This record gives sequence, C-alpha cells and structure tokens, in this order.
Amino acid sequence: MCGIIGYIGHRNIHPTILKGLERLEYRGYDSAGIAWLDSGIRVYKKAGKVHDLAALIAQEKLNSHIGIGHTRWATHGVPNDTNAHPHLSASGKLAIIHNGIIENYSILKQELLSKGYIFKSDTDTEVLINFIEDVQLCNNCSLEEAVRLALNKVVGAYGIVIISQDHPNTLIGARKSSPLVLGIGKDEFFIASDATPILEYTDRVIYLNDYEIAVIKDGMLFLNDIKNVPITPYIQKLEIQLEAIEKGGFEHFMLKEIFEQPTSITDCMRGRLDIPHKTIKLGGIEAHMDQLVHAPKITILACGTSWLAGMVAEYFLEELCRIPVEVQYASEFRYRNPIIQPGEIMLAISQSGETADTLAAIELAQAQGATVLGICNVVGSSIARATQAGIYTHAGPEIGVASTKAFTAQLTVLMLLALSLAQRRKTITSSKFEEIITELASIPDKVKAMLQHASKLKELANLFKSATNFLYLGRGYNYPVALEGALKLKELSYIHAEGYPAAEMKHGPIALIDEDMPVVFIATKDRIYEKIISNIQEVKARKGKIIAIVTQGDEHVKQLVDHIIEVPATHEALMPIVSVIPLQLLAYYIAVEKGCNVDQPRNLAKSVTVE
Ligand code: GLU
Repeated sequence: MCGIIGYIGHRNIHPTILKGLERLEYRGYDSAGIAWLDSGIRVYKKAGKVHDLAALIAQEKLNSHIGIGHTRWATHGVPNDTNAHPHLSASGKLAIIHNGIIENYSILKQELLSKGYIFKSDTDTEVLINFIEDVQLCNNCSLEEAVRLALNKVVGAYGIVIISQDHPNTLIGARKSSPLVLGIGKDEFFIASDATPILEYTDRVIYLNDYEIAVIKDGMLFLNDIKNVPITPYIQKLEIQLEAIEKGGFEHFMLKEIFEQPTSITDCMRGRLDIPHKTIKLGGIEAHMDQLVHAPKITILACGTSWLAGMVAEYFLEELCRIPVEVQYASEFRYRNPIIQPGEIMLAISQSGETADTLAAIELAQAQGATVLGICNVVGSSIARATQAGIYTHAGPEIGVASTKAFTAQLTVLMLLALSLAQRRKTITSSKFEEIITELASIPDKVKAMLQHASKLKELANLFKSATNFLYLGRGYNYPVALEGALKLKELSYIHAEGYPAAEMKHGPIALIDEDMPVVFIATKDRIYEKIISNIQEVKARKGKIIAIVTQGDEHVKQLVDHIIEVPATHEALMPIVSVIPLQLLAYYIAVEKGCNVDQPRNLAKSVTVE
C-alpha cells in the first residue's frame, strides 16, 4: 500500500527521490524514509509526512546517484521512526524498501533469530532483507541470486527495491502482487510503485509482472523471472501528463477532482457514445460482448467505493438488461468458497487496478473457469493486465484518497455497458435507449450546474461540523448513493455516519433519531418518491434534522425538511451520478471545517495493495 521509489543514474538523488515521495504520498503517509549510497549506506527515516523527512535531511550533504525512498502505510509494527523504511540488513550492507506483506515472516524470523540475527523493528520487511543476506552467506552466491532464491521461499506480497554497499552500480527490484513500474531514461533508471514520480523524467516504462526480478547493473537492465528465465522487456509509452497530477490552483486534490467531474465523465464517454448513430462502442470488451449478452448471470467483484458503484450497476443492469447481477465484496468472495460456473462472466472494478483483494478474487474466479473483465482507471495496472479484457474509465489520475471522479466515471462506464447490452439483448425499446443516451450525454452539464452550488454545501458544513453522528437514507438507485455519502463523511471527517435503505430505517436505526441527529435524505423524483416522503415524515416526527437532496423545483419536500439541496432532474438510473456530487462536497467541506487532512485521511491509503 505504500509508495516506493528507487533511482540510479546521473542525477543527485536528493530532489529526485523527495519529489517522487511527495507524489507517492497518497499511497501511504504514516512515515517516510530514504537511503543512499556514498561511502556506505546512509539511512534517514521518520514517522510523519514526507516534509518531516525533508526537514530531517535538509542539512545533509547528499551527493549520491543511487538511492531508495519509501512512504509507509504500516501493516506490521506501529508507525514510528524505527519501523519506517528503508530497513538495513544485519551487516548494514543491504537496504530495502517494501510494499506488501511477507506472510511467512514469523517462521523466517524464528529461523534467523536462532542463527543469532537481531531485529530492530517489528516489520516483516526487516525479516526479508536479513533473510536475503542470510541466503547469500549460506550459498556464497551473487546478490541477484540471493534475492531470487530468497523470494522463492517467500509467501505473500512484495514490491521491493534493494541497494547494496558492495554493488554501488546495482539497483534490484522485484514484485509479487504489489505494483512496480520501471522508468527508463537516458543513462538513468527509476523503479516506483506507480508512474507519478517518473513521468517528468521519462515516458518509457516497463510494468513488472508478478515473479519478475529487474536488475539494473552498470547501466544495463536484466529482467528475469523467479526461476531465472530471462524475460524480454515490453517497453510502453506513458500517456499521463504532468499537469494531471498537480493541484492546479485548488486547495486540495479532492476538491480539484470533484470539480473535474464534468470533464472526466465526458472523457469516459468519448469515442464510446455515438448519439447520432445511436450506438455504443466499448472496444476493449467487444470480443466478450457475445458472452455477456448470453450470460445467465453477472457477478461484480470490488471493494470500497468501487463496490458501491457495482451496487448502483446491479440496479440498472437488472432493470435494463434483465440479467441477474450479484455484487460481491472481493475480500469476502475470495475466502468464501464461492460457486463459480465454468464460462461465468464477472466484472472487477477498481480505481487503482491494484486492490489486493480484488486481484485475488479475480485469480480465484479465473482458476475456476470464469471470464473476468476489468473496469479500472489506471492504465497498465495489475487488474487491467490480469483480466481477460476491460474498459478503462479514463478519469485521469485520482490522487485524493477519497474516491470521487473515479466513482462517477465507473458509473458512466457501467451505464454504457448496460445500455449496450440491453440494446443487443433487445430488452430496451429504441425510444427508451434514445432517451437514456441523450440524457447520459447531458450529465456532464448537469454535474457542472450542481458544482455551482458548492457554496451552499459549505454553509451546511459549517452548520453541521460539530455533529457526532449522521444518518444517510435513500431508496432504489439512491440507496447506494446514501451508502457512498456516509462512507465519504466518515473517511474524511471521522464523524460516525451510517447509510441505510430509507424503508429499513424503522427496523433499527430509527431508534437513533432525536433532535441532535442530522439525517441526509436523497429524495429525488423517481418511481418511489412518494415512499421516501413517508420516510421523511417518520424522521420529522422524531425531530431529526433533515437535509434533503431533491430534484430542482421540488416544493413539496421543501415544506417538510430543514435544508434542501436541489439537483437537476435526470433519468432515475442516471441520478446517482448527479446526486452523489452534493454528498462529496458536504463531506469535503465538513472535513475542511474540522481541520482534517482531506487528501490524506488518517489510517487510509489510496491504493489498497494489502489484503
Ligand atoms: N509490511 C510492511 C510494513 O509494515 C510494508 C507496508 C507497506 O506496504 O507500506 O512496514
């Protein structure tokens, strides 16, 4: 889950690695560290942010051309200076940075302890580097060979980069289930968790695959797999632009990303939705369209906000295509001994394309004969490569930890898929199809209109910033939106929030309602509008403070509730793309009012590469 970067070349590593770590900080930010080679290996690390590390090394005379840097999201051992990476081997001659979990670390640690090794930290990573050193000593082999032999004995996930005092011109990287990208510049190489720290130096990259080991030695790259079979590197051209990963005048990445949604939704439809010809083209999965059209069932695998996008899709896929849909938490699915029919088709949704549980669920499903199609934002990511085919959301880099534009892009892609399937299955009339695609094309403008009312959400945030609990209620298409609103609020502002189907409220949560309980209703006009009005009445009768998200011009709800936020009218299946916007803004402004770190909420990380 952390961010790692290694560099070897002609630049001074100080600015290169620090700037890289700042870019990677969204992946993990409880501590950071750096190691470089001069006469020996020097390591500086610190609990806190990258800027704390920068302050620590500000006075250091740092003139090295090989080094590694890490920003951590702790899995083993509390976030403190000692547990921060890089970790040194017992001899002090090897240093490692690691993303992932070494699952058999305690067995390895026992073996090493019995041989007299001493550990300074509580991490699995320190065990790994000592294990590599021990393997080298026992086998009297080269460092590359020791890394390979050791990794053959490791169970778990790793993206690692290693430097060695005895090999000042060598940088070694390896991966299994944690992403690693190799950047190839002119007489220089980078290895990082993602391309963001690399793209200002080079656009030539190699995405490492599982069980591959890259050795950069004396300016040459050697790529082998863990069985020592040489691999021919596949060099790709990076498509992301530098501006896409900068804040562009906004106070936070999250706010920038919320405001980018009219553009990101448009980008997501570009070249796919053809209104004049009334067609939808999803090139990436065209070869699997037939299988989808005849699928007896579709299973969606995802985690977090992507899972909620899957839930919205469940509603519209069933409605428009008349195919049963099951939405599964990937983390549960993978350990549940699920029943998978050979030839079954699944959709895996992940913004980063690196979500460890989703990847594992994909592997399980494929091993049992399922076809899995990916819906990812990050091009070339592990899920994009692991799935048989897929559709990119094209939302651009999402840096803020709380997902916003990736969610609306996922909904857009899933709607395009539903419409295309419905058309081919003939479960939609051409007039309905035309009505929904025309409406879909207008969504970016409706989102833009909604964003113009951001100041209203800011005022509401000011009124409710001291609340300790929130309830979010919705029905039908707006039920998953209620869950997403609650999730956004709790992850950003640490206020307890619960999302619930509005009608289910009376089976429990209604007991929580009193005059101190803010209740957010998503009560836009749809086929069950009348029903949600009754639920509003029920909360009002118990003196809850009601904020209602309503369709523009709704005078009725206005009379009943304390605050209303109007959203432009649209087709009910498309409403989640619009009705989620005020909930994103509300969560954002409450977190800002409370002084929370919006882009890097505590305990979270952007790309959940550990299970
Ligand atoms: N398991 C390692 C640790 O806890 C690496 C965690 C990470 O991926 O940041 O230090």
